Amino acid sequence: MLRQYMDIKEQHPDKLLLFRMGDFYETFFDDAVEASRRLGITLTARDKKKDNPVPLAGFPYRQLENYLNKLIRQGCKVVVCDQVEDPKLSKGLVKRAITDIVTPGAILGDSLLDTADNNFLCALCPDAESGRTGLASIDISTGDFTYTEPDDGHLNAELQRLHPAEIVAPDTETLARVNKLHLEHEPAVTLFEGWRFDSVEAERLLSKQFGAAAIEGLGFASRPAGTLACGMLLTYLHSLKKDDLSHVTEVHYYSMSDFMQIDEVTSRNLELTRNMRNGARKASLLGVIDRTSTPMGARLLQRWLLQPLLDSRLIEARLNAVATLRGAMHLTDDLRTLLATIGDMSRILSKVAALRANPRDLVALAGYLDLAPHVARLLADFDCPMLAQWRDAIDDYSGITASILTTLVDEPPTTITDGGLVRNGNHDELDELRAISREGKGGIARMEQRERERTGIGSLKVGYNKVFGYYIEVTHAHRDKVPDDFIRKQTLVGSERFVSPELKEYESKVLGAEERIKSLEYELFCQLRERLQLEVAHMQSFVEVVAGLDVVCGLAQLAYDENYCRPFLSLEGVMEIRESRHPVVEKLLEGEKFIPNDIVLGEEAGTIALITGPNMAGKSTYLRQAGLIAILAQMGSFVPAASAILPVFDKVFTRVGASDNLAMGQSTFLVEMLETANILAGATTQSLILLDEIGRGTSTFDGLSLAWAIVEYIHNTNRLGSRTMFATHYHELTELENVLPGVKNYSIAVREWNDEMIFVRKIERGGADQSYGIQVARLAGVPNRVIRRARQILANLEEHE
Ligand code: ATP
Repeated sequence: MLRQYMDIKEQHPDKLLLFRMGDFYETFFDDAVEASRRLGITLTARDKKKDNPVPLAGFPYRQLENYLNKLIRQGCKVVVCDQVEDPKLSKGLVKRAITDIVTPGAILGDSLLDTADNNFLCALCPDAESGRTGLASIDISTGDFTYTEPDDGHLNAELQRLHPAEIVAPDTETLARVNKLHLEHEPAVTLFEGWRFDSVEAERLLSKQFGAAAIEGLGFASRPAGTLACGMLLTYLHSLKKDDLSHVTEVHYYSMSDFMQIDEVTSRNLELTRNMRNGARKASLLGVIDRTSTPMGARLLQRWLLQPLLDSRLIEARLNAVATLRGAMHLTDDLRTLLATIGDMSRILSKVAALRANPRDLVALAGYLDLAPHVARLLADFDCPMLAQWRDAIDDYSGITASILTTLVDEPPTTITDGGLVRNGNHDELDELRAISREGKGGIARMEQRERERTGIGSLKVGYNKVFGYYIEVTHAHRDKVPDDFIRKQTLVGSERFVSPELKEYESKVLGAEERIKSLEYELFCQLRERLQLEVAHMQSFVEVVAGLDVVCGLAQLAYDENYCRPFLSLEGVMEIRESRHPVVEKLLEGEKFIPNDIVLGEEAGTIALITGPNMAGKSTYLRQAGLIAILAQMGSFVPAASAILPVFDKVFTRVGASDNLAMGQSTFLVEMLETANILAGATTQSLILLDEIGRGTSTFDGLSLAWAIVEYIHNTNRLGSRTMFATHYHELTELENVLPGVKNYSIAVREWNDEMIFVRKIERGGADQSYGIQVARLAGVPNRVIRRARQILANLEEHE
């Protein structure tokens, strides 16, 4: 047995092997030590008394899902090895084989997945000839499959966006190009060295998956690196026994330049999907705007948010859909109520494709498909191209629904081998067997009654257990009344158990029928599942409609609930947002009301807004709300403002406050300058730059000089001229307004009253003359003596400035 174990382990030395033995999954040797540590299960030993006891740790097979869950969450890769023949029938060693390989990026099971999030497996593959790197990503639980060829500088931003559960690469050099990602869970990394294809072979593999005709137009020929990455991804999945990928019906190429570029730092600073405080979704932009009702919608919303569009026609199409729904909230309500009853259909379909769906999944699926005509009917009431397109994409699924509902009972169990799944009247033989079993059970009940009368033992009863089957039980008190034709089987403390020829006859009838019922039901279920497997692509059309519709309905609801307005796109580069608010801060303020402010940038209004003002006034908030509004508008959402005109930005950059990266050997100031260098190298005329303090991490004069020069550079370099908002405490910079026509000074008002500061939070034209830093320090409880002394020093310094 251990030899069999070693043979299997040898194929997957890097994974933890769960080895089925009877009713347990066991682990051995180092795996046992690891499993015991990770799962908190007892570590024992086989052959304890011998010289070389084998470390062993196991758990009951029914706990597989639970323990697998724990291992995967800890980033482990796991091989499940089962007994593939009936131990009762096998001679000698039971045959065992690998039945599943689960890694963090290759999960189908629901309980392991977060419904609101995709679970991406990413493959990185360099191509020597073109010098490019391919990045392919797949979520096998939903069938989403895309690839791109990011420039070197954008690879990490893209990985940050995808937040993969696992990254595979063919060599360590490629893996080394992935920086530490700022994610809640660091992805598992896998070296897939066995992989040595060229792009032609990769293309062959892809055409096997998608059909030769289908991949012709997909541009693989001109993107060898991307093709390699896709090919590698499929090969890797096959190596994990994930062969049933019929739900992966499409692969999309996208260029990162099709979307607004949001680098890693910006995405983090603007807290788009996670807040900076604890990395949770709550209090992030996504957390605030998500009003979706289905898991598919929630996942798509996240994708829209992190990939804002550049093509104004596409943006307008989405905005039109949101506006249409926002204008008919009673219909939107009806739609959302309907959508809210649809569960994770996408993940059920991937299980159907892999022939792993259970009966409950299928009954749920039928219920969801049944809603398709209702959704279509509600959509018929709208006059909007995008909604009409979705309505037309909804097909007739009644045949599929009927085949599920006529086969399965209304509330089937999740197990498929114990019967109780298939409806009566579906299959003649099954109905007959059920009648026989019923009759047999009835016969037994009648026999029990007869035997009570015949023997005069009123308490005689017929029971059943797995070891003996049916038996007659008589308590010791009536021992002498037992007739001769009863055959004793077992003596218990208070009673004796017998069988009789008549009972055995009924038993074989009942048990024979029940065995046959179970296997017949299993067969019928598998047939149904196989038929449905062929319909996966067909059913996916509805999933796509549901996801898209859910997102726009959610955005309409958001606009309604939070009083957002429709943004208008300006081709002249004007940015004029009236009474704008920060979508997250306005929700978090307790007691205080959020004060709206205008944001105006453009040729005449100046392209650079220089914002000064005291600490705590709201400068950072103001800056960020401009970035968030731009992103919201380009993803197709309404925005938190009274009115909004915006250009289409190609990139949004932020540089915010001090952030140390000491772990990576970078000081605060170095990080600040690296980020600034990155912005100056990457920004274009169409970009939005948000600079919250520059040059704060060094001496005043160095910092001030750098900040000054940077503003000049952005202003004077033709290539840039980017819309820029720059918050600073260097009041000296307000001088720039006098020398550079594109620079305009703003400040956030604060009033002093009885030596107290009152934050008015209103943005005004003109620069602030002081920072009120000392007042804020006082507010924070710094001792009075320090405050008084600081005032003296400040007065001295100002005198000599
Ligand atoms: P510092 O210069 O110290 O970094 P700041 O000027 O950047 O400060 P913010 O961090 O933007 O100030 O804002 C401080 C707090 O003020 C925010 O956390 C928020 O609670 C509140 N605030 C900001 N803007 C507004 C507003 N428009 N209306 C109401 N409250 C606001």
